[in-house]
Amino acid sequence: MTGKLYLCATPIGNLGDVSARCIETLRSADLIAAEDTRRTLQLLNHFEISAPLTSYHEHNKREKGGYIISLLKNGKNVALVSDAGTPAISDPGEDLVKLCIENDIEVTSVPGPAALINALILSGLSAKRFAFEGFLSVNKRHRAEHLKSVENDSRTLIFYEAPHKLRNTIEDMRAVFGGDRRIALARELTKLHEEIKRCTLDEAAAFYEENAPRGEYVIIVEGASPEKDCGSENEWDNIPLREHIDGYIAEGMSVKDAVKRAASERGIARRDAYNEYHRAT
Ligand code: SAM
Repeated sequence: MTGKLYLCATPIGNLGDVSARCIETLRSADLIAAEDTRRTLQLLNHFEISAPLTSYHEHNKREKGGYIISLLKNGKNVALVSDAGTPAISDPGEDLVKLCIENDIEVTSVPGPAALINALILSGLSAKRFAFEGFLSVNKRHRAEHLKSVENDSRTLIFYEAPHKLRNTIEDMRAVFGGDRRIALARELTKLHEEIKRCTLDEAAAFYEENAPRGEYVIIVEGASPEKDCGSENEWDNIPLREHIDGYIAEGMSVKDAVKRAASERGIARRDAYNEYHRAT
């Protein structure tokens, strides 16, 4: 008979958040596969758990994955833990789950903390519909493309971020979402210095210009307003283009700027707006 893979959620800061079932599962596992063995050892020592421990992380997941599958096939039970929180959320655990499914090995979960859910429920932003976006790429172009792809998404967006990249990320988000977009920055969740900062992207940029980011962060971003959502009616559809442009000219804009602004708001090419405006005059 084959063994079973147990996905064990561990605390994201406060050791008191570990479940009784998690402790029991770790204690009775034939092997504990941990993303960060040093961090997991602290947990195991605290609860006097002495099951065998091995590492399973991004850089050894291929060889270790095969080894773990062979143990499972030989009837051993393996508990998988990530460095913190729920395995397979922004960590290589998802590859091991796929491997088990391909090999007809049973997988079960021992639920517990996940940083994204706790940040979301504390954010004060809508939790009715949300999208978890994980970490942004370190590659500048990929980051921009990722943010662009969710610019008009009306769901609340959730990102993970490391402190040393937070300032850049806020700047990149500001450039795509606009400085008025509301966000919540959740740091050090469940720890002594837990803090939720609720503000706009402009306010966050100003704050972190003066204050160095510290600790682990989850960034929750308010979804785009419904009229910006893809597929919804453009609010300008009922106003003739000429009226739209003349409105900005009346406010003091040059024709060029007014055409540019109106074209962007209507989602049409600047040249088309310009030609149409002049055809109509
Ligand atoms: N598997 C984990 C989970 O369930 O949330 C996430 C692992 S991911 C590699 C690590 C990221 O989660 C951190 O960079 C940070 O964005 C977020 N995170 C983890 N613990 C956190 C905490 N206590 N407070 C805020 N964010 C945290």
